[in-house]
Amino acid sequence: MSALNIVEGRGYIAKIEQHSFVDGEGVRVSLYVSGCPFQCQGCYNVAAQNFTYGEPFSETLLEEILASCEPNYITGLSILGGEPFCNVDITLKVAQAFRQKFGQRKTLWVWTGFLFEYLSRTTNKRFQLLSLIDVLIDGPFIQALYQPNLPYKGSLNQRVIDVQASLNEGKPVTYIA
Ligand code: SF4
Repeated sequence: MSALNIVEGRGYIAKIEQHSFVDGEGVRVSLYVSGCPFQCQGCYNVAAQNFTYGEPFSETLLEEILASCEPNYITGLSILGGEPFCNVDITLKVAQAFRQKFGQRKTLWVWTGFLFEYLSRTTNKRFQLLSLIDVLIDGPFIQALYQPNLPYKGSLNQRVIDVQASLNEGKPVTYIA
């Protein structure tokens, strides 16, 4: 399937993890949304490629996510998938509520199969989401480029990007090589 053959989410989430130690720096809350058009071979979360996997998102779940982020030991929120940028009805709402509640005191990390260059020139809602993110891990997982123990990514093509620096400079700026 082409990355340009984009499908929009149906408002489902696959999972919420209250204490993740691997989805970014520090102890984090992780939200996994459902549905991804990329269908990467070797995908780490095949079940969540389905757009109706899991349960419908709700205001109650939003409050649960925000409450889980409150303790001081929680560094921030991570959003994974599925594809967060094919679920902007959920992810933009969560990101906006997260920023409203915590400002810049906690960080927002997002994993996507899209490239930063594409997202920085994309539709309004997707760009709004991008502009709220601290760290973006971009690009599809490519099995042939898999390498163990890469920081926060699975294959060598993926990048760990400092989004705010990248938007300022108009080109991707690496956060962790
Ligand atoms: S972009 Fe991520 S979630 Fe989507 S198929 Fe690829 S590895 Fe799986």
